[in-house]
Amino acid sequence: MLNPWELLNFSKEKQLTPRAFRDLYTEFGGTRLLFNGKPDKKGQKACSQYLDNAGCSVHKGRPLACRLYPLGRQIQYDKAHYIYEGTTFPCLTDCAEVLKLPKLSVGDYLKGQEADPFEKAQDVYLIVMQNIADIAFELLLESELATSGDTKTLKAWKVLGTDLPEVLAEKIGSDWINCLMIPNITADTENPVAYAEKHNDLLLTKAQEQFGSLQTLQELHEAAVLMIGVALHLARGLGANTKEISEHWIETAKSHGAKE
Ligand code: SF4
Repeated sequence: MLNPWELLNFSKEKQLTPRAFRDLYTEFGGTRLLFNGKPDKKGQKACSQYLDNAGCSVHKGRPLACRLYPLGRQIQYDKAHYIYEGTTFPCLTDCAEVLKLPKLSVGDYLKGQEADPFEKAQDVYLIVMQNIADIAFELLLESELATSGDTKTLKAWKVLGTDLPEVLAEKIGSDWINCLMIPNITADTENPVAYAEKHNDLLLTKAQEQFGSLQTLQELHEAAVLMIGVALHLARGLGANTKEISEHWIETAKSHGAKE
């Protein structure tokens, strides 16, 4: 799964525009790298960036998931935990020579992987995700929509949480997907925090322009559903569980007076 800054890094490494990289090598509008390479012994297709006898063709631009593998990173109460849930490392089956590699602490391993800026990107895009969702909360709770007795909006949020990625992408539409995954920003692209902050401003300005003067309850409903869809699409690119997140947002909205 990819966040927008990771997609940008891939495209730089491949010497393509983000749009060209997105269209050639990803699916769901850019949140998932394509795995359409040569199948292995188990029939699993290789990553689109993997070259036979050469390995990763974009090693310097590889995303956080590849830098952490086989570990996972879980954020709880703003604290990151590194996890591995199996009992044996998956690479041992096909690649026993990893046993000859030096034994490292998790910290030293991650330093060697230069994971730090990619972790920062992940963390700052989690904030962007919540900021997009907050627009939906404003549209629902700070308008007449919630007090009108509307129940359609939270029902739609629930459906979005379990939609397949391609269905969610289709619902959001290319205009918002492009602004989310291949934004037109001039920022220090080496600095993930500065980049994501500019991206955040771009998304909020777009929402302000599009939803600043909505009149009808139906328009407010559609806008609140669209914004949760965009936030969930980004959540998926961050590796989050969209069903759990949408349920959490529904409970939060209900605690502020919205009805399901
Ligand atoms: S490290 Fe492997 S999975 Fe990651 S981008 Fe490179 S080839 Fe693909």
